[in-house]
Parts: sequence; C-alpha cells; structure tokens
Amino acid sequence: MAFLPFYIPKQKRLRVVIVGGGYAGMAALTVLSRYAPDTEVTVIDPNEQHIKMTHLHETFRYPLSDLQVSFTDLSKRFGFHFIQAALPLNETVLQQWQADRSLTLNEEVLHFDYLLITTGGGNKGNEPAKAVMSLQDFMTNSGSDLLSDKLAQNKTDSEPVISVIGGGATGIQFLFEIKQFLHRKKIKSKLRLIHSRERLLEQFPDGFHIYVESRLRELNIEFYPNTYYCKQQDNKILLRDKKSQEEFVLPSHLTLLFLGKKQENLYEANAFGQVLVEQKTLENIFVAGDCSHFNSFGSNSLSAQSAVRKGKLVARNILRHSSVLNFLEPYLHHELGYVVSLGHADAVGWLASEGNVITGLPALAIKELVESQYDLLLMGIDTYLV
Ligand SMILES: Cc1cc2nc3c(=O)[nH]c(=O)nc-3n(C[C@H](O)[C@H](O)[C@H](O)COP(=O)(O)OP(=O)(O)OC[C@H]3O[C@@H](n4cnc5c(N)ncnc54)[C@H](O)[C@@H]3O)c2cc1C
Repeated sequence: MAFLPFYIPKQKRLRVVIVGGGYAGMAALTVLSRYAPDTEVTVIDPNEQHIKMTHLHETFRYPLSDLQVSFTDLSKRFGFHFIQAALPLNETVLQQWQADRSLTLNEEVLHFDYLLITTGGGNKGNEPAKAVMSLQDFMTNSGSDLLSDKLAQNKTDSEPVISVIGGGATGIQFLFEIKQFLHRKKIKSKLRLIHSRERLLEQFPDGFHIYVESRLRELNIEFYPNTYYCKQQDNKILLRDKKSQEEFVLPSHLTLLFLGKKQENLYEANAFGQVLVEQKTLENIFVAGDCSHFNSFGSNSLSAQSAVRKGKLVARNILRHSSVLNFLEPYLHHELGYVVSLGHADAVGWLASEGNVITGLPALAIKELVESQYDLLLMGIDTYLV
C-alpha cells in the first residue's frame, strides 16, 4: 500500500459513495484504491460507460466506443460496487444525508462514511427539434453517424448550411472536426459559426481568438460575432444582433448547439472540498469537478485538468479526515495550460504561462500528452506530478 502523508488509518473499513463517474469521480477512485485499497467504494452513474469527454469532438474520426470504458471493467480494475442510476440531488437532501450518513436509492439504503459529489456541469441547450443537435446527442452516437444521418434526413436542393452555435472551446473543437469531416466525405456544405461575444474563446489569451479567426477565414467558415441564437425552424435560423437587438433570419439546415454549462447544479465547497450549505460545513460530504466551486486559491475552471486535481485532492482529504490526525490539505492547483484542438493537425494553446501561446503541431502534441496521462490514470498508473 502506498504511503499518504498525514494519513494514519483507524481500524475501521471506510465506506465511500461517489456520485458521478466522470473525470473527478474516477480520479478520486484511483486515489482511494492506491492509498486505502480496502475502502468499500460505491460509484453511482446513469450511464453504463465512463466517457473520455475531452475527445468527444473526435468522434467524427473515431467511433464513440473508443472513448468509452465500461463501469463494469473499471469496477473489476479498481474494486468498487457500481450502481447505474441518476441520483436526485439538492442542498436540502445533502443536509439530510450528512445527518443520517446514509441515502436511499431505488429503495436501497446506502450507508456511507463519506459521500463525494462529482456530477459534472450539465450542458445548456437541449432543444428537441429535428434539425438541432447538442452535446448530449454526441454522448450516445458518433459525430460522423449523427451528422450523416441528419443531412440525409434533411435533404435539400441547394447546398446544405450547418450552423454551429457557441465559440467556446467545445464549439470550436467540434466546428473544425466537422469542417474536416465534410471535406473527407466530399459533402458540399456551408459552415458557419455564431457566437454571442466579440471574441472567440474569451476565457483564453487574445492570441487564441486571433489564431482561430484567421483559420476560419482560410477555411471559408462564416463567422457571426455578437449574435444571439433564437431558434431553428423550417431550414432557417432566427438570430438577434447583440448591439442593435434586431432579429434576422439565415438559411440553416442543421444547427449544433454548444452553449456551455448550466450553473444550477453547482455546489460551494471550503478549501478542502467539503460542501458548504448555508455557510455550514457538511463534514462528510465532499464535491469535485465541474459541479464544484472551491473557496480557495486554486483554479475553479471547468476543465478536466481541474476536475482531476480536485478529485484527487478530495479523495486524499477523505482519507485524512477519517484518520487519526484529521489534517486536511487546501486546494491550490493552478492550470498548467490549455489546448484547444482545431481538427486532426492543428491546435492553439498556452503552456506554463498565459502569455506563452503555442499553435500547430507542438500544441497538438501537448494535448496528446495530457490525454495519455489520463488514459494511464484510468489504467491505475498515476503519472501526475502536480
Ligand atoms: C468536447 C469537449 C472537449 C473538452 N476538452 C477539454 C480539454 O481539452 N481539456 C480540459 O481540461 N477539459 C476539456 N473539456 C472539459 C472536461 O471534459 C470537463 O471539464 C470534465 O469532463 C469535468 O469532469 P467532471 O468529472 O466534473 O464531470 P464529467 O466528466 O461531466 O462527469 C460527470 C459524471 O456524472 C454523472 N452524473 C451526472 N448527474 C448525475 C446524477 N444525478 N447521479 C449520478 N451521476 C450523475 C454523468 O453521467 C457523468 O458521468 C472538454 C469538454 C468537452 C465536452
């Protein structure tokens, strides 16, 4: 068994329930299995498979199954009990569960010493319409199949127009993959990007916007900044100009919504990852990943990088909280970089400092490296130094 500083286990076997089997949940699991392999862990997730979300846009090149790892396989590897279900959560039930140290799911009572919430952010923009797709659709089908099917269903005499809504990291990564997919399949189609702000990728340094905008021009992708999406109807898209507030219509045979994360399922935590409700600490309930906001100096960005770091930290803190010393570690992780891929051979990112913008193959190589680190973690090999 590996040694974790400030963790002197008591004799009792710990019971930990992890709600959500994404990046934060899996990272926490690997820590528990490394430092306290006899912990009785239960993972609850509505899906049968863990999805390597950071590759989702690549399903225009690879099958979705390449990104899925079944929870059954993971449970054999890390020795946990898996329950396929969506657990309804809110602050009131969390307070009750803290008091009871148990929760009820499908009439089964699950007793726990610690509960860890890692349910992710939940995505905006689920619009049930024939010609509209959102991130949720790509979690169950490969991008290549989805796009081909939608274009076949919605045949038109003219060249089809595809609108991508949202110039954040997800929208941009999908946009470039779609462009290359259409080119590979020799599908004649016009592609446009609609974004509600002036700058693309606004949470990143200016160099990101400048680089991506130049690539859009080279690839003949129409770009509408400062434009709000209203709705898609009858092969048309209704838009509103942000400055003049005037509405206008453009032809669009297919619309893809990448509108970012909902903030409604966000839980506040102290610097150690324990949930705060009405300014009271729920000692035995921790949170990590996109559904968490830590009151600390560490990064709360909605990224796999932060999710993994928070997941690992809270797992260490769960063990320390249960131990003789009860000495917890604050969350201080800062982002080390971020790379946005622009198709299979190009990317833009920063590394070490936000002023250090890198593009092209070097940026792509860094992304690959980071992704392989996570692949190794899922195999039980932890190569994260920070
Ligand atoms: C296309 C794309 C590309 C990305 N690229 C990058 C990148 O290059 N770098 C980067 O750092 N980040 C990237 N991200 C962001 C990254 O994927 C997220 O920040 C990360 O997945 C967050 O991890 P998480 O564990 O908080 O949530 P998730 O990975 O979303 O996992 C949440 C899990 O909780 C489960 N769940 C939800 N509700 C419940 C419930 N009620 N009960 C039980 N289980 C529940 C879900 O099924 C899911 O398995 C990308 C995201 C996308 C969509």
